[in-house]
Amino acid sequence: MCGIGLLYPLNVEKALQLLNMLMTRGRDAAGYAIVDPDGGLVSYHTGSVENVRRSLREERSGDFLIVLHARARPLTEEANVAQPVLWRGVLVSMEGIVENDWEFRSSDAPSPWIDAYALCRVFETQIEDATISGLEKVVGSFSCIAINLSRPDVVNIVKGSQPLVFSLSEGSLAVASEDWMLIRLGIRNVTVPEPGTYIRISIRDSRQSIRRFRLTTSAPVPEPSEDRAVVLCSGGLDSGVVACIAKRRHRKVYLLFVDYGQPAAAREREAVHKIAEKIGAEVIEVKLPNLLNVEGLKTQVEGPEAAETLRRWVPARNLLLLSIAVAVAEQVGASVVYTGFNLEEACVFPDNTTEAIQLLDRAAKLFVSHGRVRIVAPLARLMKRDIVRLAIKYGILDLTYSCDRPDGPCGRCEGCWLRQRALEEVMREAK
Ligand SMILES: [Zn+2]
Repeated sequence: MCGIGLLYPLNVEKALQLLNMLMTRGRDAAGYAIVDPDGGLVSYHTGSVENVRRSLREERSGDFLIVLHARARPLTEEANVAQPVLWRGVLVSMEGIVENDWEFRSSDAPSPWIDAYALCRVFETQIEDATISGLEKVVGSFSCIAINLSRPDVVNIVKGSQPLVFSLSEGSLAVASEDWMLIRLGIRNVTVPEPGTYIRISIRDSRQSIRRFRLTTSAPVPEPSEDRAVVLCSGGLDSGVVACIAKRRHRKVYLLFVDYGQPAAAREREAVHKIAEKIGAEVIEVKLPNLLNVEGLKTQVEGPEAAETLRRWVPARNLLLLSIAVAVAEQVGASVVYTGFNLEEACVFPDNTTEAIQLLDRAAKLFVSHGRVRIVAPLARLMKRDIVRLAIKYGILDLTYSCDRPDGPCGRCEGCWLRQRALEEVMREAK
């Protein structure tokens, strides 16, 4: 872990504040480089935190860029090196690690060598496509700021798997490892890029080009593919319909069934297999140890009352189930996780809302090695009657099991009542 930052234009007071905040991520050494966007390198200091602070206090504010680094020295590297590094005319401030850094070494390599030098090679080129393919050759977990001093007016920002945020507005740019650092400096409009984002910013006109690149890791997982999807499936109406939608969009679909001790587990499992057979999907079964309190599901409430209560709540169920689905997706090389969350149930259950999904979707990318998984809820804007129509259209209505009880359908529980009510409405309309 390290802290990296950039400010333009240079305000010495704010740069010192930012350096102090970056030091929450590393205090073993520090460094900064001041660059004139029209002229190149103006000042460059690395070393002990105290010396660097002292030098920085003597700099003058103005129309310059400052690139900062606070270093947490890994045990794998020598003590007497600091960042930003400067090699082959490229300035780099990096956090994280490069696993295959030796592949970027050459006979003129600096000594002692550290991982960050590998990234100097990636930014030797001014051709964007070459930079992208260079980034994809880097195996590791990193984020960085890079300036090729032959184009001192262009700032390259790379968000790999390490924290990095930025804020760009007319005539100013700020980069830091974490959002609170910029917020505390009074900087608004903080952008949090997704892992695998390369941003090239032209300082003079505040123009930015944003490109995606493939994170290359040594993690023992398949390359994520749009060809494959995982559907969190309980065998009910909603997830059954979502399974059909997923199968229309992806060649290989896995229906993930989780037995977490819910009373109707056996019947749900049976329904999942029936749906899988109908649409040509594979079933993956996971049994959760008694981690969840499913007592709520045994509460005897019926009819409309059952459809409007949290008495049947299972603690943080969807957070757990979706986490399992994301793990399965990474294992099988799927780039999408589908859930059956819908508008009808989101009105009652906080863990079914679009807000919860969007947040988990963002989080999931930070919890997989390649940063490429999406959580989608294609029914999020649909009510039960819309979903029944789709189930009829796809021919799976009779295969699904919506009852909460093991010996259903009981016709009275929440699942049964909503399903029956929706079906009646659809039938009435059809007449
Ligand atoms: Zn029922």
